[in-house]
Amino acid sequence: MTNSPVAFIDIGTSRLDVVESLETSGALEIPKPLDALSGNELVRKAQIGKVGTEVLRYLTNAFTGRGFTWLLPVIFSKSTDPLWPDPGASIEKRVETEIYGETVRTTLSMIIHKLVACSTAYPKFFVLSPNVRIERRERKATGWHAYEFTQLDFELAGAGFRDVRRLVEAVIAGLVSHVKKRAERELKSLGRYGSLKTPETPFRVYDREDLEAKYEGRWEVSLPQDIREPVWVTNIPREFYDFEDAATGRWDNYDLFLPKYGEVLSGARREWEYGKIVAKMERDGVKKENYTLLLTLAKEGKLKPSAGAGIGVERLMTWVAGARHVGEVQAFPKVPGVVYEL
Ligand code: AMP
Ligand code: MG
Repeated sequence: MTNSPVAFIDIGTSRLDVVESLETSGALEIPKPLDALSGNELVRKAQIGKVGTEVLRYLTNAFTGRGFTWLLPVIFSKSTDPLWPDPGASIEKRVETEIYGETVRTTLSMIIHKLVACSTAYPKFFVLSPNVRIERRERKATGWHAYEFTQLDFELAGAGFRDVRRLVEAVIAGLVSHVKKRAERELKSLGRYGSLKTPETPFRVYDREDLEAKYEGRWEVSLPQDIREPVWVTNIPREFYDFEDAATGRWDNYDLFLPKYGEVLSGARREWEYGKIVAKMERDGVKKENYTLLLTLAKEGKLKPSAGAGIGVERLMTWVAGARHVGEVQAFPKVPGVVYEL
């Protein structure tokens, strides 16, 4: 791997300042590697591992049981998520290397692959996808960021927010019931059994504009402290692939927030029209040459309308287990700014 950052988009200073204000600086204990854990800490680690196993068992059954095809992930591609503009993104560097004379990047997310897969052979699928995001080191203190993590990334042709909402709400509610049944002993020992309640559906939906007005801009940090149930937030300006209504300026996208913790899912109905995608890339300074295949498909009318989302698997496990840091649910913690041997 080269150590040089990949300059395929520009991250403006003002955007980073906004992100910086989201950072918390509490005295959170940084998750330790396996070899540094005490006997009691190893027991706790194993209990979280059992809870995580039940989360994975339930999620994969829920999606395959609903007819989703299960794909395996990719690590290296010429094209990956620009992660720009996204008010939540804060990347220190982008990892790229050369293989077979070609420059490839490690997966930031599989969104580009999802759009192509969903428009061709796989109209309904999910993938457990490792993402490498070298988050700014200050983010170790949020307890909510890792520099390697996994998305349960799914996409559904011809779908909209209503379909995704119904699916995700059923999955989250079912997941809590399942884990409470299958890992009761572990949840009790972790002190989480009583406080983890099956959420009531449907979840409430907030518009980002209303939250900005209420919280004066810092809604991503304040909202999770104010809610008792998971809630949706819609209409968030971000990357070109999320659908933006040209007439109203409204974004047909959605994030799911968990009480006390924060964002666990981002998703959207997608753009599929060539002219709109190009205009948004030009507006945002995203290099079109990194998205040749996607643009060709769109130009030929082969990109299909779809909707989907990515669920942060470690974040979901952290919430279910009541863990303090997302690195605690990782066997090999990948905490921003902290590089262990394994
Ligand atoms: P995004 O589309 O960028 O919001 O990513 C999808 C989901 O992945 C988010 O909603 C989070 O749950 C999860 N995620 C994003 N970044 C991280 C990170 N650095 N560490 C752990 N989970 C993350
Ligand atoms: Mg997000």
